[in-house]
Amino acid sequence: MRTSLLIPCLLCCAIPALAQVKKVAKATMPTADNSLFHDGHFHLTNYVQEGITARYYLDSIMGDKVGRSTLFGIPLQQQWSHRVTGDNAPSYYLDTDAPLYYYSFTDAYIAMQYRSLTPEQQKRIDPMITGFNPTDMYAADHIRRVLLTFPGVFTGIGEFSIHKEFVSSKVSGDVASLQDPALDRILDLCKETGLLVILHNDIDNPFPKPGSPNYLEDMRALVKRHPDTPIIWAHVGLGRVVHPIDHQAAMIDQLLQDPAMRNLYFDISWDEVAKYIVSSDSALARSVRLVEKYPDRFLFGTDNVAPATQAKHMKVYELYAPFWAKLKPSTSLAIRKGNYERLFDQARTRVRAWEAVNVPKERPIPAPTPASGTGGH
Ligand SMILES: [Zn+2]
Repeated sequence: MRTSLLIPCLLCCAIPALAQVKKVAKATMPTADNSLFHDGHFHLTNYVQEGITARYYLDSIMGDKVGRSTLFGIPLQQQWSHRVTGDNAPSYYLDTDAPLYYYSFTDAYIAMQYRSLTPEQQKRIDPMITGFNPTDMYAADHIRRVLLTFPGVFTGIGEFSIHKEFVSSKVSGDVASLQDPALDRILDLCKETGLLVILHNDIDNPFPKPGSPNYLEDMRALVKRHPDTPIIWAHVGLGRVVHPIDHQAAMIDQLLQDPAMRNLYFDISWDEVAKYIVSSDSALARSVRLVEKYPDRFLFGTDNVAPATQAKHMKVYELYAPFWAKLKPSTSLAIRKGNYERLFDQARTRVRAWEAVNVPKERPIPAPTPASGTGGH
């Protein structure tokens, strides 16, 4: 079913329900932490690598409303091509026809932002590695190098994208694919190191031919090929134009009940996803049924990009008010906080253990190669 993106009066409907949520939340929150949620999906910087500082994020945006949060930039940089837009500097990928390219410096930037925080503040933050090209067999080596260069910082990789409407076709170089051995190498490294994965992959193309969604089977196969790598599928596979297709809930139900896919999780981040879920009584009821059936497989996140104010940051959470109100208190708590704590704490512990073994290892100087100009002399 194709639902309209325009849902008038959404906030007015949401406010009474929000009051109920706050009551429920108070009764179930651990006393040490009165925050409303942990943010499983947060971008500190945008498509031109600009944003807010981690300190500002902690002090003025998270405050006491957000308990813990992921921290990542955006792996892609929008090129400003003067030939294409002249003096108009694009800040978003839809502002220009110029390509996007992978911007690896984002990982060093995020690491240094994390290091600018106090140890108490750092405990609330889970930085993620994103600055790699998932079509490159060397991507896994980049990720390993980031861990070795900035030990004690990162918890996972992502959000990175394979199929994403309007973005995939704009990236310089190869089009990404779920079948790419480079992606398997990345996920193998995540198994070895314990890095948690947040993957954006639209389940379909914006205007597909009728039939089964284009990327469902590839995604299923990918998750099954990596049973020991926990994967969080961002935005439950939806895009801005990639609408909830018929039987979306049934499809997700089928994936989650498969014992071979115990490593698959979903985040319900993004205001567009929130709008879909609360768009009608039936969509809401379907979503609530699904989440109640698998309360440990979904996480909340905002998907906000460098928000300027806390009020703005809270919007996605508030859009979900009718959803929170309909969930059992224990399920609501799991989606907002419990699942984040379980998955990210486990990843943190495993990555720190991997670093403890691997960082001190002396790394041999690589053998000369013809390309280095030093081989064969
Ligand atoms: Zn995102």
